Amino acid sequence: MAALIKSLLIALLIGLTSCQSDQAPEKTRPKVVVTFTVLASMVETVAGDHVEVVSITKPGAAIHDYQPTPSDLRSAQGADLVFYNGLGLEAWFDKFLKQLGDVPSVTLSDPIEAMDIFGNQPVEYPNPHAWLSETESAQYIDQIVGGLMTLKPDAQSTFERNAAQMKLEISQAFATARAAAEALAPSQRWLATSEGAFSYLARDLGVNAVSLWPINADQQGTPRQVKAMIDTVREHNIPVIFSESTVSAEPAEQIARETGIRYGGVLYVDSLTTADGEAPTYLDLIKTTLTVIAAGWQAND
Ligand SMILES: [Zn+2]
Repeated sequence: MAALIKSLLIALLIGLTSCQSDQAPEKTRPKVVVTFTVLASMVETVAGDHVEVVSITKPGAAIHDYQPTPSDLRSAQGADLVFYNGLGLEAWFDKFLKQLGDVPSVTLSDPIEAMDIFGNQPVEYPNPHAWLSETESAQYIDQIVGGLMTLKPDAQSTFERNAAQMKLEISQAFATARAAAEALAPSQRWLATSEGAFSYLARDLGVNAVSLWPINADQQGTPRQVKAMIDTVREHNIPVIFSESTVSAEPAEQIARETGIRYGGVLYVDSLTTADGEAPTYLDLIKTTLTVIAAGWQAND
């Protein structure tokens, strides 16, 4: 008898337990971890509120040579999916990803045809900044839709609608800047910047790119780099030079002073700003950067 009661009690307990799990609240949103703010915003814009997006680096942070902290690792724990750029950008990320355990990951740059930072053919040093391109960003967006679909297949139509809207806004921003480029005399179609991040964007706009240094790292604005840029500006009669939000503008301003050309202002490339800045989202980053470039060229008219 005692044994019967015991087994009845066990059956009752099992029943209660399964009942509780049936009534448990719906699982919280899938967690998507992204290496830096620009790509995180791309994912958020496609995903809407269907997933939780966590960026490892924060707005304004330098993303090349980043050193992840223990708290970065904690905030990334429990990820269901990871998106990262690839093309050698996140050298710091491989070890970090391993520490997250067995999480699926998507390399956003996988489908793109890389350009070389120095213009080498075949490509020797791939330029990682392909999110700044009209055509390559469309590939990133398709990769994001594909990744998100593995987490939330029911939301496919939302992801595709958001993706199409993003591509449209990117194309409109590029069309305006392209018109500004085409209004320049062909010999003046140059984009001069601090970091050599603009190979893809300059190609899309039909202009040449020249920079003070190839990738943000230890050597930023050495006397030799400044001298080489001054020579290039004079040789090609380049009318304006820009700098970027995550680096010192001083070397670019020095070149403007010494050559008498204009300093065109700050472009947003590697990081978003906080909500009160000029580039709190990816689309803002693209629109602000292209607007500043076009304004710098138009001031030459
Ligand atoms: Zn960069």
